[in-house]
Amino acid sequence: MQTTKLNTQSILPLTCSRSGTCCFGKTVMLNPWELLRFSKEKKITSREFRDLYCDFGGIQLRFNGKPDKKGQNACSQYIDSIGCSVHLGRPLACRLYPLGRQIQFNKAHYIYEGDTFPCLTDCSEVLELPKLSVGEYLKGQKAGPFEKAQDEYLIIMQNIADIAFELLLDSGLAASGETKTLTVWREIGNEFPELLAKRIGEEWLDCLMLPVINEDTENPITFAQKHNDLILLKAQEEFGSLQTFQELHEASVIMMAVALHLARGLGANKKEISEHWIETAKSHGAKE
Ligand code: SF4
Repeated sequence: MQTTKLNTQSILPLTCSRSGTCCFGKTVMLNPWELLRFSKEKKITSREFRDLYCDFGGIQLRFNGKPDKKGQNACSQYIDSIGCSVHLGRPLACRLYPLGRQIQFNKAHYIYEGDTFPCLTDCSEVLELPKLSVGEYLKGQKAGPFEKAQDEYLIIMQNIADIAFELLLDSGLAASGETKTLTVWREIGNEFPELLAKRIGEEWLDCLMLPVINEDTENPITFAQKHNDLILLKAQEEFGSLQTFQELHEASVIMMAVALHLARGLGANKKEISEHWIETAKSHGAKE
């Protein structure tokens, strides 16, 4: 499928009619701050929102509503004839649609796939609306804080993976000639999200998606940084005094699983990232 890269000046038929035809049959991934935004809008806790409306421990919004004419299920937040019930709390994927976002060399690029915008074929009202530049569209969608959250969580993903690297490379585990840790990292890269969530277990899943942070939850950067500290603290408490290679192996696997589960929640290619991290570990002496 053709992918077109855009900059913020590109003029496209981007005005949304909010008729909601884009709320059927999609995959909407979530980061922890987006889960929080949803729950605030819904006036329930993040845990309640996750348990009622998300899959795989909270990284994916559930689409189990009434199907459209094509048989595609509506988003769990979609109300027939009204549209999105949590419009102010909707996540980045919904604010960007039909665009996607890629980070390359620390710069965001906006992309779309295919030859025509789905909005033009699925929402005839859009044809009557004025065209906007990508920048104007993103401003209108108030995407800024959600983009910041996404960028912060990409950093956290790398920080979590760094713990997995330390447990493998700095502990003597890799130097011992052990090979099974990278084998399991590879398995995790290919693992279905339900299996990965099971492998991670409830405690770490909650730490990843339901951090207990009470102050400044409106600010995605502060929130994500406090979340990062909580994750590092938990890792330090649990893995700070491991004794055996088996324990180090298991800890490294858990941290890699958490990093890759977050990667999926950020819409990143989990398999590619895991392969990149395996090659990096090998270049530092680990064996598979
Ligand atoms: S969160 Fe709202 S905008 Fe996004 S898919 Fe669901 S109903 Fe549509």
